[in-house]
Amino acid sequence: MNSSGFTFRRVKEEMIENLLEMGIKDFRVLDAISQVPRHIFLDEALRSRAYENRSLTIGYKQTISQPYIVAKMTELLISHTKSRGKVLGNVLELGSGCGYQSAVLSYFSEQVFAVERIKPLIHKARENLVELKINNVLFKYGDGFLDWDKNISYDGILCAAAPRQYPQELVESLSNDSKIVIPVGDNKFQQLNVITKISKNEIKEELHDEVAFVPMLSGTSIDGNDS
Ligand code: SAH
Repeated sequence: MNSSGFTFRRVKEEMIENLLEMGIKDFRVLDAISQVPRHIFLDEALRSRAYENRSLTIGYKQTISQPYIVAKMTELLISHTKSRGKVLGNVLELGSGCGYQSAVLSYFSEQVFAVERIKPLIHKARENLVELKINNVLFKYGDGFLDWDKNISYDGILCAAAPRQYPQELVESLSNDSKIVIPVGDNKFQQLNVITKISKNEIKEELHDEVAFVPMLSGTSIDGNDS
């Protein structure tokens, strides 16, 4: 391994220790995070900072999510499962950006359906996952409020942009005993919401960490200039 590869291994291990200290307990999640090289999602100039626990710019006025948040949301999404491997069938991801969270989700899902409203980010995400040889994520250019397949029953839904309220329609597409993990709020206060579908007419809502996501915007964008 060359010297930069070695450096990344050390800083990646430190990042995992950091996540443990911050309260990520699910070793399945820590394992997946340690297998996804975060530096490949970044431009050359930012790669040396890839394993810091912070969001970093990816262009188009967007960022790659903070590793802690990716770990936390994944942990919440799979917390009702116990075994290893692909514990969820179909997973819907809204706001896939550069595809980092999608790559982590691919370890736990048979199929990830990812939707992103900024067109060039779809190309970036596809390229990134091809580089990682991950082939169970389907990226779609569209508006996450509307453009997802309602005929599929999802075993998990993760949203990486914050609506003011979570769309009720998402609950209807969720299979029983599955969760939606979504930040909800405005630019002053947002909180991670976890909605568990118990049965057709029964849900459970829990509130978790305070977070700071970009707002979930309506419509699509050719270049991200309206974000
Ligand atoms: N999941 C990414 C982080 C994405 S940041 C990661 O792993 O790093 C949030 C993303 O949500 C942005 O790319 C933004 O363009 C997108 N977004 C905002 N509103 C959206 C909408 N209505 N539909 C789809 N994507 C949306």
